[in-house]
Amino acid sequence: MARVVSTELVDTGRLVDLTSELVAVATANPPGNERATSEVLRAALAPWAASWQEVEPSPGRLSLLARVPAQQPAPPGGHVPVLIVNAHTDVVPVVPDRWSRAPFEPTVVGDRLYGRGTADMKGGLAAAVRALATLEATGLARPCDIVFQFVADEERGGGLGTRALMDAGLLEADAALVPEPTGLAVCVAERGLLQGRLEVRGRPGHGSRPREGVSAVEHAARLVLAIHAADFGDREHPLLGRPTANVGTVHGGSAVNVVAEQASVGFDRRILPGVTREDAVAGLRAKLDAADLADVDFEMVVDDFGEGSEMSPDHPFAHLVRSSLGLVLGYEPPTIGMSFTTDARFIRNQGGTPAVVCGPGDIAQAHSIDEWVSIPQLVQATAAFATLYASFGPGWATNA
Ligand SMILES: [Zn+2]
Repeated sequence: MARVVSTELVDTGRLVDLTSELVAVATANPPGNERATSEVLRAALAPWAASWQEVEPSPGRLSLLARVPAQQPAPPGGHVPVLIVNAHTDVVPVVPDRWSRAPFEPTVVGDRLYGRGTADMKGGLAAAVRALATLEATGLARPCDIVFQFVADEERGGGLGTRALMDAGLLEADAALVPEPTGLAVCVAERGLLQGRLEVRGRPGHGSRPREGVSAVEHAARLVLAIHAADFGDREHPLLGRPTANVGTVHGGSAVNVVAEQASVGFDRRILPGVTREDAVAGLRAKLDAADLADVDFEMVVDDFGEGSEMSPDHPFAHLVRSSLGLVLGYEPPTIGMSFTTDARFIRNQGGTPAVVCGPGDIAQAHSIDEWVSIPQLVQATAAFATLYASFGPGWATNA
């Protein structure tokens, strides 16, 4: 049964210090260099970690794993549950001139902590680590094994981070928490994406006689009209809505007095969980085929694909996260879907592990100039995660 962990048991000074120490290690990706966070992380978990593991598929691109064991044995015939806490240590790059303060010199102003990665997601990582100390301050024993996964490369798709853990078979557990910034909302579903270009070929001619050539720009315009904000016949998902496609870029032609020989239409199609790369490409082609474009000479090039993912909002672990937060916040947090992908997709889809994305910080702050996180929300997250750890003991699913 969940017990309330008071926010007064959170050591706010050490929480802000740990977040700040991590922010001060510049891990903008590219190049990432997540190994540079290793010393801070090892020191922060030294009182609790029983074993460490390193996965480093490319030099410097370190994912560091720490196992924090339960303080109680399994009951007869029972099993000590394993919770993965997956948090990325890379951040998106900054344009320092546009910041009003140094992005990697974290500063407290009022109840905000400023710096690159404070919201996305070194604050959430620090809250999840400091929750161990907060739980100890309650006097309650830790009833689960917690495997911290401090991963590289999330901001560039996770290929050198959580995907490498997936390849090593390290994503299987009873449940996972991914403390990305959700403003402490409980996120159980994410849209996937298919991004690429339609490369259009025309036949050049003199601009004074446009019908004597074939204009790639004119044909590109027809492709844009066929897919931009179009209805792809997707079902309406209760948390993710009905995704469509955006044409975000158009490039083409060589001069105003030449019938354009070449054009390129850049698209971003968002997709629902369960849609494969092949499905997504086929759906886009079907939409184009239906638009009477037989005379348009084009080729589709896929630049990026990320699958969607979801777990049931009624899964016992989603209930447990909601109730843990609710005890601290005093209200039930909303259950949401997100329009972008996180590493939770690998954990849900390939690991087969139910994963909730929930952490401190506003999604609007992620990747923004003058990024900040609310210190009171960091503290609430820490108390809520301590409550979650305390509740995730043998038999948790029946108590949730
Ligand atoms: Zn993030």
